[in-house]
Amino acid sequence: MIEVRNLVKKYGNHLAVDHLDFTIEAGRIYGFLGPNGAGKSTTMNIMTGYLGATEGQVLIDGHDILKEPEEAKKHIGYLPEQPPLYMDMTVREYLRFAAELKGIPKKKREDEITEVEKMVRVRDVENRLIKNLSKGYRQRVGLAQAVLGFPETIILDEPTVGLDPKQIIEIRELIRKLAKKHTVILSSHILAEVREVCDYILIISRGKLVASDTPENLEKMLGENSTVELETRAVPSEIRLLLKNVPGIEMMEIKAGGNGISNVMIRQKKDEDVRERVFRAFASADVPLLTLKTAGTSLEDVFMELTQKETVPEAFRKQKKWEEDKNNAGDI
Ligand code: ADP
Ligand code: MG
Repeated sequence: MIEVRNLVKKYGNHLAVDHLDFTIEAGRIYGFLGPNGAGKSTTMNIMTGYLGATEGQVLIDGHDILKEPEEAKKHIGYLPEQPPLYMDMTVREYLRFAAELKGIPKKKREDEITEVEKMVRVRDVENRLIKNLSKGYRQRVGLAQAVLGFPETIILDEPTVGLDPKQIIEIRELIRKLAKKHTVILSSHILAEVREVCDYILIISRGKLVASDTPENLEKMLGENSTVELETRAVPSEIRLLLKNVPGIEMMEIKAGGNGISNVMIRQKKDEDVRERVFRAFASADVPLLTLKTAGTSLEDVFMELTQKETVPEAFRKQKKWEEDKNNAGDI
């Protein structure tokens, strides 16, 4: 288990990590999701002891990463954004060097390196110089280094960045394989990647944790029926006029088609269902409505909502308040 408590990192006046608090439980694949510059690498570097924090604490299975780095680091393997590879070593030489650094007993070293090489499929290139390997192979060697010693938790910073689609699929398969025996934390700025691989998502934006939940719950968070889509035989100005006074509409987007048919996407206010009102508005003006349906909130919407707005949306604030109340109640 990893506990991150009240973590703050300032670069000069810039707050790169802004009071992060979360817990990583064993046995899951966690996705650390956020746009570039959100603070993912900084947080991971602090969690793994590569960087000091301005404030706060990281406990790895109860060991403070700063106060007991050796003990704490035994429980984690880390693949940083720029893997620390030595270009003039062969794969095997490099893994021997990494095993030594990790304090893996000499007797076990060779067997363990062979096991890890098989696992990440770099055995066929073990005698090649790292500088002569493709980016995909190099990433696998970096992964091998993280897995050596079989730590409980493996932390991977943007493990698929710069790889081609085939290599990305291979790395994702490897991550899933690793997750059978290890807790995995990976970061990505790509939502689709995190959704595909992870079963728990932490969304960070401007150094703050803005949401953390399963993908399914995140989708539910903003309400499943928050948008209504319709098609109508009318021009945008007519539609705007018709819907102007319908209560419960937060915003709408109208796209005119070439055939006199327009597509309308209506964002409803929370806990509203505007379908009947919309139907009546069109019917009373005798404007044909061709389709009318609700569409679920996608994880994409949640991500955009949480990372692009300055303020945290109401649904999440409520949830957070509820959690705080619950926690406070526990203290009394
Ligand atoms: P991410 O990994 O999510 O893209 P980073 O953790 O790399 O984000 O960066 C978070 C913020 O901190 C960014 O605004 C970045 O410019 C800034 N930053 C990162 N490293 C440094 C540094 N060594 N000195 C100054 N600012 C930094
Ligand atoms: Mg980064």
